[in-house]
Amino acid sequence: MKKLLLLLIFISSGKHILHAQDYINPLDFRLLLSGSFGELRSNHFHTGIDIKTKGVEGQKVYAIADGYIARIKVSSYGYGKAIYINHKDGRTSVYAHLKEFSTSIDSITKNEQYRRKSFEINIYPEPNTINIKQGDIIALSGNSGSSIGAHLHFEIRDTKTEQPLNPLDYGFKVKDIIPPIIKELKVFTIEDAIDRDNSNSRIYTTKKQDQHYIIDSTIHINKKIGLGIYTYDRSNDAYNKNGVNSIKVYIDSTLIYFFKLDRLDFNKNKYINAHIDYQEKQNSKKKFHKCFKLPNNSLKNYKEIINNGYIKLKSNSIHRVRIEVSDSYNNISNLIFNIRLNNDKLNKKDKENIVESESRTKLFSWNKANIFEDDNFKISLNEKSLYETINFNYQKKDSINGVYGNIHQCHYDYVPLHKPANISIKSKVPNKLKERAYIAKIKDKKYNYIGGSWKNNYLTTRSSELGDFAIITDTLKPIIKGVNIYPGKELRKQKTIKCTIEDKESGIRKYTATLNDQWILMDYDHKRKLLKYEFDDIIKKGGNTFSLTVKDMVGNTTKYSAKFTY
Ligand SMILES: [Zn+2]
Repeated sequence: MKKLLLLLIFISSGKHILHAQDYINPLDFRLLLSGSFGELRSNHFHTGIDIKTKGVEGQKVYAIADGYIARIKVSSYGYGKAIYINHKDGRTSVYAHLKEFSTSIDSITKNEQYRRKSFEINIYPEPNTINIKQGDIIALSGNSGSSIGAHLHFEIRDTKTEQPLNPLDYGFKVKDIIPPIIKELKVFTIEDAIDRDNSNSRIYTTKKQDQHYIIDSTIHINKKIGLGIYTYDRSNDAYNKNGVNSIKVYIDSTLIYFFKLDRLDFNKNKYINAHIDYQEKQNSKKKFHKCFKLPNNSLKNYKEIINNGYIKLKSNSIHRVRIEVSDSYNNISNLIFNIRLNNDKLNKKDKENIVESESRTKLFSWNKANIFEDDNFKISLNEKSLYETINFNYQKKDSINGVYGNIHQCHYDYVPLHKPANISIKSKVPNKLKERAYIAKIKDKKYNYIGGSWKNNYLTTRSSELGDFAIITDTLKPIIKGVNIYPGKELRKQKTIKCTIEDKESGIRKYTATLNDQWILMDYDHKRKLLKYEFDDIIKKGGNTFSLTVKDMVGNTTKYSAKFTY
């Protein structure tokens, strides 16, 4: 008995078992979510929860437990302003998209920004130098970085591995008694030959019957298939569509696939593009979970998988499929349907063979390095840049106004890349324009800056996407506008200098501001194109000179200067 008691004490003090942490909420009102852990985002699984802040910025953000500040990050993109606190239990809490830091954290940050002469900053203070008590107000919530609405992005990480964990497993309570919604099922026919245009897939809309989702009639399938589902979750009193937490697939009650978002890994987060039906996302914006695994997909979230999730039927008897979807609070929905092997060969669609004269193809194996060359175009991929083997397709397209040389269709942008491709284009760009030339990705008549440097008449860059590419030039300078400043202004009550900056073509690479020839910190909000300087001890009584220089991606430069009195 005594032994058992000791054992129990031992177990309950082990830190992986101790779940009921003494954490407090990071906000002082009821937690409503606008985003869940593991939710399918663009190029990543969501690494935290998004907590609503009543639609506004400026809510007090509290440290969830004692600890020390391990990292402070400021950027106009991504997490915006963010604080990382290490706790004694081996976990780190992260608070992002903040509007402003508490006074003490702000002065540490500003010191470092001035020292490094950079708004964008990433500081790792020594352990236990900036200590924090549970309940300390560390910041005000905001909408900084790549956030597109006021909210608090909150994470719990394993400090040692930095792997994000599901905060809802650590005592942060959200009311959720609503099971996931399963909208659609997709059946992918997998051919042995390489054929990646998804023409052999079919979407079925689900129906609700009693407590389950069903598909009306038996689905006749080909020899080898994979399944995909379009599903999302809701929590109570919030309209937002959140992500689900786990998916299980049973065939005749045998579990063949179990996917669970219990923990993530930043090094593997991009494999989301192998996990989702990327082509469907490009076409309809719907993100389907694939219930099968492509060859180059190293996600660790497949807890159980038989035959990589692919289904092969031997006899034409009817098989029952059940897909069980769960949210973080174990609210469960089931999709139930029957499948049967289709012996009717007539049903097989004839492939339309549109081979255009300019089109060339080459097999690109996912586990090998691949190169393709044409007269004025080259692409090379390192091994494991693709999630599966493809029949690479290249097509030289006619030039259009503004483009130097041809447009190069470099396969299709619905095929994702895990690592960037090297792309080189040869073109006759007049010498004086060469340094203003860049490779752009063309989509829907829009040009996106990718990059480029010249080597032997080739412009070369790395692209993280496939699609249509061409060389264009940018000769337009960035635009600077004073918002509350102009030359000769007499400042009386204002406490800031604000300017907007914009570049219509390649985009902004760099800005530098000075006051009386000293570097000043300007807070950059790219969404509002706004730069803001808050007066500190660099401004002086009487005459001052403010200068701002903005450079675009290819080096076009604009200078703005205003002498003013204060
Ligand atoms: Zn978030």
